[in-house]
Amino acid sequence: MKIYLATGNENKKREVSQLFPEHTIVIPKDEGIAFDPEETGSTFYENSLIKAKALWEIVHSPVLADDSGICADALDGAPGIFSSRYAGPEFMRGRPDGKKISQSEQNSFLIQQITDSISAGKSQTRAAHYTCSMVLYMGGDRLFVVQETMEGQIISRAEDARGSGGFGYDPIFYLPELKKTAAELTAAQKNEISHRGKASRLLKKIADEILSAEEKNA
Ligand code: IMP
Repeated sequence: MKIYLATGNENKKREVSQLFPEHTIVIPKDEGIAFDPEETGSTFYENSLIKAKALWEIVHSPVLADDSGICADALDGAPGIFSSRYAGPEFMRGRPDGKKISQSEQNSFLIQQITDSISAGKSQTRAAHYTCSMVLYMGGDRLFVVQETMEGQIISRAEDARGSGGFGYDPIFYLPELKKTAAELTAAQKNEISHRGKASRLLKKIADEILSAEEKNA
């Protein structure tokens, strides 16, 4: 079955396609749909639902949407829902001009902010987690949501960033049990333990049931 994924991010499409191999995952730009809804929610869940509903209004077909980000304990969970726009201590929610800084600058800022928080005695930990909220939206009041995390640590020096897999903050996100950063994992290894992988697998169980009932009734 064709399922729309409410994102412009090819990496997410790749990860979700691997998790839903029997479905065709389509993102708006595959069909020339302009899609950039304003994420005005205050939680991952609210933002995932905003994206899902916005795409449903265009395609009127089942939509999957996720909202994710990285939350550092030393920063009280920041940058959280602002992870993609995060631009350092002065611009925790993104720059006023909307311009994004490079991922390597984001990584350096995040490491530095955590180090500063620890040096100032405000925190003692580099612990962080990724969160992923994922929604299957079926129109009207029909929606199914799961939220999952992947726990790890932010490395202490930008020079120690490792790996070329994954995306975003993965090269500085260290998994102590595996002694690797998330960017050093293969896509399959990351999917096994990631916030998005776990959320997708849970939601898939619901989606398989809901969508097959939908196909039978069609
Ligand atoms: P979203 O597209 O609004 O969900 O923003 C997600 C942002 O959170 C990305 O741009 C990354 O900065 C960060 N992020 C979420 N999941 C991951 C991941 O698996 N690896 C690395 N960064 C991630």
